[in-house]
Amino acid sequence: MVENAQMRPLVPFVRRVDEGPHPALLAALRRALSEVELVEHGEIAVDRLAEATVAIVDGPSADQLESLPNLRFVQSTWAGVEAIIPAVPEGVAIARMVDPQLAATMAEAVLAWTLYLHRDMPRYARQQRGAEWVEHPVVRVTDRRVGIVGLGALGTAAAKVLVRHGFDVAGWSRSPKAIEGLQCFDGDAGFATLLARSDIVVNLLPHTTATANLLGAEAFAAMPFGGSLINFGRGQTVDDDALIAALDRGHLDHAVLDVFDIEPLPSDHPYWDHASVTVLPHISGPTSADTAAIIAADNVRRFLDTGELPDGALVDRVRGY
Ligand code: NAP
Repeated sequence: MVENAQMRPLVPFVRRVDEGPHPALLAALRRALSEVELVEHGEIAVDRLAEATVAIVDGPSADQLESLPNLRFVQSTWAGVEAIIPAVPEGVAIARMVDPQLAATMAEAVLAWTLYLHRDMPRYARQQRGAEWVEHPVVRVTDRRVGIVGLGALGTAAAKVLVRHGFDVAGWSRSPKAIEGLQCFDGDAGFATLLARSDIVVNLLPHTTATANLLGAEAFAAMPFGGSLINFGRGQTVDDDALIAALDRGHLDHAVLDVFDIEPLPSDHPYWDHASVTVLPHISGPTSADTAAIIAADNVRRFLDTGELPDGALVDRVRGY
């Protein structure tokens, strides 16, 4: 029997044209969602654009989504949605990617770079460059206080891995939380308390109007002398000038940065040459095509079959995440 593509619901795959194609993700989505006709937005005939009620988006543009007049739901392949919210027409529901594999990959990166700071690797690398043979005392893992800023899907997974490793972990979120093995703080007072008790602060906040530049001069001053920062959330949540000033005056010891205000990080940015900064090219938690495809497929399938939206992954436009 010849398969009739017209019988299957049309689901656009929407990715900004200037980003180029993503054949691995598209292939994984097609494998996971074989019962729909998954078509790249630019390949859809104009007279079929009104068929789509749901789309899978991988960094879409506003004009691409505006061309779909009956869209009701978009499933994003990304966990961070600040760039997606303005592109999605009002009234269209947005689900971010909540993928346990992504959380595990991110938690592994948090553990790796926390250990890097905990075991003084930046200091020994500096010493090696000066041929200096100097031993420093090892701090016990139970005496190393790590603070996770943002206890969502990624922050919670990271916190649990750090707890399993023996670190003294606390976390901070907007709403109160209770997570076994760590102290949880919330609200303004909770933020100051978390910073003051954290030798290493790990940022896993989304970028919203409330979190922009939240990690600035005041926050760094509230951290203990010699503390360090890991930023795996978004560049916009860190005030770059304040961070460089805190590193330069020695109040902070080191920063591991994976996300930046402008990406790729411009070649003349002071972070590149700063002795107390490790620059990573946004690699701590990449979308895993095969598992993300299965999660996106399940959410799209449920929506097409029942009209239900994926509760735990829905984005609140007012909150901004
Ligand atoms: P999520 O589940 O939405 O969690 C966000 C967390 O931040 C929640 O705990 C939330 O508090 C907290 N939060 C948000 N605004 C706050 C505020 N104003 N004050 C205090 N807490 C606030 O997000 P996720 O899936 O964990 O992802 C977190 C971020 O990681 C993404 O938004 C993205 O920017 C970044 N990310 C980076 C990479 C990378 O490769 N570097 C990869 C993926 C994602 P509540 O729990 O109270 O809501």
